Amino acid sequence: MDLRSDMTPFEAVNFFFTRAADVNHLGDEAVAVLSGTYRELRVQVPVRRDSGALEVYSGYRVQHNGARGPYKGGIRYHPSADLEEVRALSSLMTWKTALVDVPFGGAKGGIQVDPTGFSQTELERMSRRYFGQISHIIGPTRDIPAPDMNTNAQVMSWFMDEYGRRFGHTTQIVTGKPVALGGSLGREAATGRGVVVITDEAVRDLGLGAPEELTMAIQGFGNVGSWAAKIADEHGYRVVAVSDVGGGIHAPDGLDVVKLLAHVAETGSVVDFPNSEPISNADLLALDVDILVPAALGEVITHHNADDVRARVVVEAANHPVTPVADASLADRGVTVVPDILANAGGVTVSYFEWVQNNQEIRWEEDEVNRRLTRKLQVAYRRCREFMDAHDDATTLREAAFSLAVDRVVEAATLRGYL
Ligand code: NAD
Repeated sequence: MDLRSDMTPFEAVNFFFTRAADVNHLGDEAVAVLSGTYRELRVQVPVRRDSGALEVYSGYRVQHNGARGPYKGGIRYHPSADLEEVRALSSLMTWKTALVDVPFGGAKGGIQVDPTGFSQTELERMSRRYFGQISHIIGPTRDIPAPDMNTNAQVMSWFMDEYGRRFGHTTQIVTGKPVALGGSLGREAATGRGVVVITDEAVRDLGLGAPEELTMAIQGFGNVGSWAAKIADEHGYRVVAVSDVGGGIHAPDGLDVVKLLAHVAETGSVVDFPNSEPISNADLLALDVDILVPAALGEVITHHNADDVRARVVVEAANHPVTPVADASLADRGVTVVPDILANAGGVTVSYFEWVQNNQEIRWEEDEVNRRLTRKLQVAYRRCREFMDAHDDATTLREAAFSLAVDRVVEAATLRGYL
């Protein structure tokens, strides 16, 4: 597959997949199966607004590959969540679950909508309608959704309730639920915690020094970005800049993250945080920091701005934040990119722990969840490093991560007679 700057998100993920297919000497038949999706569902989602007006949106659920277990993946509400984006995200889930070795396949869902300004009752009506429309392909051993951009534990509660009304109470139908409804302790923080666990591994591996000597900038201050900032701060990193959709803030000597979290809880944004300077989202990506953490949207580092990135390490907390052309140019300049399927796999790992606890009707202590999470991610990072050391044609962490994941999916699909 040729490297192009105008690839769609799904073509971009498949570009990374075909590189791994080459490293693994995969045949054309396997490539044909794994570069497509198993099932794609589009549903109409009419939403009655509080004003009385009816608005009509498109909702999607795409199941990419189920060779290793039930389909698994989040649901996002965002204007960019069209079929092509959801396909790309579903395939990333297949490779992510395989890389961290949890027994799930890959799926993703979304409604193509900007939910800003929706009341809670409007959000609830939309969530229930969407989930009702896709519920015939969902199930605790079939396909298990979770939160993603603009969805959260409350939305998962409505999903669980809607499913229960139709098919009987089923706790393990979604993960990322509130703890009061069977959610796992540690799930809310899990993706951000995983980002920091993997950053620690990369910092040690690359010999960058102690966290206290390293600066970090984080784009996005939602579930992933805010927990990553909090835990990075606890691990000693100097978080010097963060941003959200409203803009960013910068303090070269380091932000007081605890006070910042209180400011965001009070005002809803990082903007106007005392003792910091405003910075645009574009300028944040070009800051002279050691570690850059894109934790918001996809495709934020492209051929337009890859040369502006001055960080030594880019940790992909968001899904698909770096396009293939940008990835190649960062690699050429010696910038290490820690790929999304490794860096943000903490969320799906603890989602798996939540599903296990629900199936067994037990609850683990938060310490145990965090210990198991840390161990699983450390092993995944080390496997990638070992793979790179053993294979001359896998020169980046992304190539190693995809190669390991593809190998596991191919093995399962072959054993089951799918390939
Ligand atoms: P979220 O909705 O909680 O937060 C998103 C953040 O991005 C918010 O701070 C928002 O203001 C900011 N943002 C939105 N548009 C922006 C823009 N144009 N410029 C800058 N910032 C912008 O979402 P989240 O759950 O934190 O997810 C963030 C990313 O992490 C997504 O790519 C998601 O797919 C990925 N991810 C999330 C999880 C999870 O468990 N939630 C797991 C794996 C990967």
